[in-house]
Amino acid sequence: MISNIIIKLPLFIKKILFQFYSYYTYRERYSTDFKYYLKKFDQYNGISLLNPYSSVPLSKEIKILYGITTLKTISDFKVIDRSDLIMMLNHSDYYNKIKFNKSLSTSGSTGTPLLIPIDNDFMKYKFASIYFFKNIHNCGINIKSGNFFGRKIFNLNNKKPPFWLHSIFTNQVLFSQYHINEKNIRSYISAIRKYKLKTIHGYPSVLTIFSEIVQKLNLETEVHKIGLLNITVGSETLSNVQKQIIQNTFNCKVLNFYGQTESVVDIFECEKGSMHINEAFSFVELIKTNTKGIYNLIGTQLRNNKFPLIRYNTGDLVEYDSAFCCGCGRKSRVITNIVGRNEDYIVLDNGTKIGRLDHIFKNSFNTIECQIIQNKIGQAIFNIVKGDNYSENDEALLIKNIKDMLGNHFKFEIIYCDVIEKTKSGKLKQVINNIKR
Ligand SMILES: [Zn+2]
Repeated sequence: MISNIIIKLPLFIKKILFQFYSYYTYRERYSTDFKYYLKKFDQYNGISLLNPYSSVPLSKEIKILYGITTLKTISDFKVIDRSDLIMMLNHSDYYNKIKFNKSLSTSGSTGTPLLIPIDNDFMKYKFASIYFFKNIHNCGINIKSGNFFGRKIFNLNNKKPPFWLHSIFTNQVLFSQYHINEKNIRSYISAIRKYKLKTIHGYPSVLTIFSEIVQKLNLETEVHKIGLLNITVGSETLSNVQKQIIQNTFNCKVLNFYGQTESVVDIFECEKGSMHINEAFSFVELIKTNTKGIYNLIGTQLRNNKFPLIRYNTGDLVEYDSAFCCGCGRKSRVITNIVGRNEDYIVLDNGTKIGRLDHIFKNSFNTIECQIIQNKIGQAIFNIVKGDNYSENDEALLIKNIKDMLGNHFKFEIIYCDVIEKTKSGKLKQVINNIKR
């Protein structure tokens, strides 16, 4: 909402007001107990403070949402998914029965948007988990960072820089991801240099677009001169191709963080490149699927008093090897691959649902972005953004992969495009299935 007001203001007023917002954000995220939580995550990150036999506190919120009156343990509860949760919220009239001033909301790119009430304390807890990860890579709060995110802070028709705002209190420069194009790219690079940014955070799809333009205009040397320490990404699946392009362009490491607005599971990349579960952040269960080595990612978050989630299925699938022991010395479980949403599937003519569609693009090293859209059973559209080296061989391989996975009778069309439309919050959604379930 704040960004809606900000878009329309003249630049000088925008800059001044933005500092109030910056101060408010700082207070909301990084004051009081933030440091205490950071320390806790350092101390306990290999140990979960909860287990299946931990008692669930009988708070007012839990009584209302789960309809319980007696003491129970976590294992007494059923695993719930997003649609179960929405039903429970409606059934209990939850939002009307509890008092809350703040909330986060999921973008709704995977269904109905969900409102997550939070309290001040939980905001700090959530950000401490993110900065616990950033601190491992020396890009904590004292390091000046650039953020490329889905917030619209400038009118889309703006032709002249700046396309960014400096948030003094949070030590960040917020960049508009909607003005990155060949005409503006040099001004973005200058701003990163001018503000002496040491780290950047953004969606993989956005930083890939940025990198593509830099490479096309031969500006790599300019970008290397910035001397970034590293780049952190989140909110979307990071493909190997994207990681490689961004690393080559910025000449630094790309580090991955997985979390979700519901805040039931955080997974961070360590110094050795492994994706560790932050065991102290929440209680995480990996529940087997029918496919060997693939697990449902389920989390319990009791720290958010305003919205306690017990055994909540994130809808994401992961690969996990229980025998793996990371060289970094942390004892927490390591996820070998975040596969993506389990509702991302395509329906064949005979009604069979096929998931794990990332396999289709596994060897597409020259594909920048891809998206599968299904409007009718038995057919789909593949939107592809080509890389510079994309050739007929890549197309032949893609066709082979599609046929291998979806069968020879599956009808499909490959459409090459310059960009793939993003969701309201600026994210790339890999599979859009418009078939009614
Ligand atoms: Zn590790």
